Amino acid sequence: METSPAADRLTSRFVAGSTIEREVAVCQKLNADGYLATLDHLGESVHSLEEAQQSRDAYLAALEQIAKLEMEATVSVKLTQLGLDFSEANCRANIECLVTRAKSIARLVEVDMESSDYVDRTLQLVSNLHAQYGSVRAVLQAYLYRTESDVHNLCRQSIPIRLCKGAYRESSSVAYPRKKDVDANYVRLMLHLFDHGAYPAIATHDEAILDRAISYIRERNIAADRFEFQMLYGVRRDLQRRLVAAGYRLRLYVPYGNAWYPYFMRRLAERPANVIFLARNLLKN
Ligand SMILES: Cc1cc2nc3c(=O)[nH]c(=O)nc-3n(C[C@H](O)[C@H](O)[C@H](O)COP(=O)(O)OP(=O)(O)OC[C@H]3O[C@@H](n4cnc5c(N)ncnc54)[C@H](O)[C@@H]3O)c2cc1C
Repeated sequence: METSPAADRLTSRFVAGSTIEREVAVCQKLNADGYLATLDHLGESVHSLEEAQQSRDAYLAALEQIAKLEMEATVSVKLTQLGLDFSEANCRANIECLVTRAKSIARLVEVDMESSDYVDRTLQLVSNLHAQYGSVRAVLQAYLYRTESDVHNLCRQSIPIRLCKGAYRESSSVAYPRKKDVDANYVRLMLHLFDHGAYPAIATHDEAILDRAISYIRERNIAADRFEFQMLYGVRRDLQRRLVAAGYRLRLYVPYGNAWYPYFMRRLAERPANVIFLARNLLKN
């Protein structure tokens, strides 16, 4: 499916395209329209050291483009894409290579969070990298019970955090099963980040939560350069425009590459209406 010629048409709402050229064109346009970007070279759970190195090289190429074109962009990477499943040492060498390059051009590597099995290893690695180089952002998921304590820990180390709700299927032994509890936890953690976080990134399309964020920012007089909002490319473009027009920093997460299947499926699962959108596209000639 990933290499089918119909793929571009199906995925274009959420994915910039299959090549770095397409990605760069989309991100430059976003920058021109006032958005920040984070480039995600699609892929996760690679099967060999060579594949992990290819992912690292794809990210190095993305960082070269960011430097050359002076784009307002970070990169977002998953550790399983850099080989975490079969060699922690290799994974560390790969991510270190990206972080040192990002640091040399004054940009960040954002380390996406995957399913709960990976949280300890991911946070350990991010914490080591932050202590040694800076130039990294951690991601925490509000659906996990443990996240409150992770937020406090990372804030103590001044590690920048992207807060999201969480996109993986998790058991009720580790994650809040009810959406309303996830949302309540998100708001609690977000307010803590506004008060104690190092440049927090509020990653959500939830309008009620965004309204709460904005009222808190106003109440506390928090300057617009002390935090950013983040959203996914193609999701709630109306809200995206509104935030930028109101003068807030908004970074869009823009995926590219051929390995779009798991990413795309998570986006469909989040919202049943997306399946109708997909079906319409499948029926078009
Ligand atoms: C920048 C960014 C980075 C992320 N990084 C990670 C990560 O590293 N690890 C991780 O587990 N998850 C990550 N996520 C995904 C996140 O965990 C959620 O699964 C996703 O953002 C949906 O949650 P929500 O906060 O938008 O709230 P929801 O309550 O799910 O959605 C609120 C509203 O947003 C809109 N919406 C949400 N999703 C969609 C969609 N797919 N299509 C159309 N409309 C939609 C709908 O209007 C919905 O009512 C990231 C999300 C963002 C924005």
